[in-house]
Amino acid sequence: MKKVILYHVRKHPSLATVLLATSTILFMGICSYVMLRPIMRGAEQAQTIALSPHELAMQNSSVAYPQFEAAKATEIVKQYATKQADEFVATLGGSYDPRNRFVLDYALLHQGGRTASIQFLEQQQRVDQPTILSHHLITVDLAVQKEVTFASLFKPEVNASEQLGFLLYDYFKQQHVAEFTPAQSFSLLQFKTEMARDFWIGDQVVGFSFNPQQPNSGDGLKKITIHKSVIADLLKSEYAANDPGKGMDQSADYAISTRPRPGDAIDPGQKMLALTFDDGPGRHTSRVLDTLDKYRARGTFFVLGQQVTGRADVVKRMANEGHEIGNHSWDHALLPPLSPERVQQEVLDTQNAIRTATGGYTPVLMRPPYGASSPALAACLHAQGLTLALWNVDPEDWLHKGDANAVYSAVMGSAHDGGIVLLHDIHEGSVEAIERAVPELMSQGYQLVTMSQLERYR
Ligand code: ZN
Repeated sequence: MKKVILYHVRKHPSLATVLLATSTILFMGICSYVMLRPIMRGAEQAQTIALSPHELAMQNSSVAYPQFEAAKATEIVKQYATKQADEFVATLGGSYDPRNRFVLDYALLHQGGRTASIQFLEQQQRVDQPTILSHHLITVDLAVQKEVTFASLFKPEVNASEQLGFLLYDYFKQQHVAEFTPAQSFSLLQFKTEMARDFWIGDQVVGFSFNPQQPNSGDGLKKITIHKSVIADLLKSEYAANDPGKGMDQSADYAISTRPRPGDAIDPGQKMLALTFDDGPGRHTSRVLDTLDKYRARGTFFVLGQQVTGRADVVKRMANEGHEIGNHSWDHALLPPLSPERVQQEVLDTQNAIRTATGGYTPVLMRPPYGASSPALAACLHAQGLTLALWNVDPEDWLHKGDANAVYSAVMGSAHDGGIVLLHDIHEGSVEAIERAVPELMSQGYQLVTMSQLERYR
């Protein structure tokens, strides 16, 4: 790659140095310099040679861009460079003053066999105005000779925004939980590819700038790199492979090098709430799981043993996605009137059904139907290593049944730190209410945790 200089600086030999010192750039491509249209003239000469208004305006200016072997790729960066210069000249409105100056230089961030990422650094200096410094990154695909956008790096069939949102949420929750309020963490789930600014492609990483605490903000940007292997299933195959070449790895404020496990990092100092779902699994339970998964929230399901066998896959999914499964008896019997043997059977059979469905998950919580306990139940729970688990918020969803609005209002109106909310995933209205309440609770700063997690901190 060669460096092309469109306009050469007459009096300011170290402009690039000035620019680089004020930019965040870390690597300068080692390039050979080629002067395309040198306008280096002595002061006397300049007066005798007829310069075009454009050339006159650009006398003290300098514009450079990289020249690739791929001609069309060069054309992309050249067009950008000349457009910037033309826009600067246009702002001068035909006036000429040798103190006006425009400098566009660049640094090669990375050039591999497939892509090149270039950072342009721009300095605009107008008489009696403060100097404007700015930068702009361009990534070109050298094979198809087109500029690429961040969104275009990803397969069209994957929801890149959502998947990257999960990745960022899990990463920051686990690695930097103390730096984020729950509401800020939640906003990472709303990530959109358009929020990634100044992206570049390196040999092994994809990088971009982004403010993780305020995803929509253009201030407070942090450099984030994601190792290509972490997002290999999202990237188009041509961008997923390593791409060795020129350019050093960029430093990053946050480097995501391994795929974070969907995280349960909990900040004990922030409010938390446990959503619990009784009497399932039923035909709406998958929808509840979808909602919780979408927002990386945790729930607790007190299941009936007789329901588990018919929907073993749903119960297995609960365990796989990090939710808690509790015992709610076999057939929703009122336990106190039963003999100790019957009580034991209700509890044990349900424990076994859950273990079988999940491949080994063993509940530690038991919620007796109707919240009704007895000495026989207490003894049985103790023997089984189970703890009695009731609730402290009752939105009475069984009473509202199909009325999602009423359930939603009841949940939102009674939510509080340390709340254990009693819901039933067998009622469609409750399921709809949850679809609205989960994002709202999280944006209010609630961490939606399992009941055992809540018990640990509250
Ligand atoms: Zn129940």
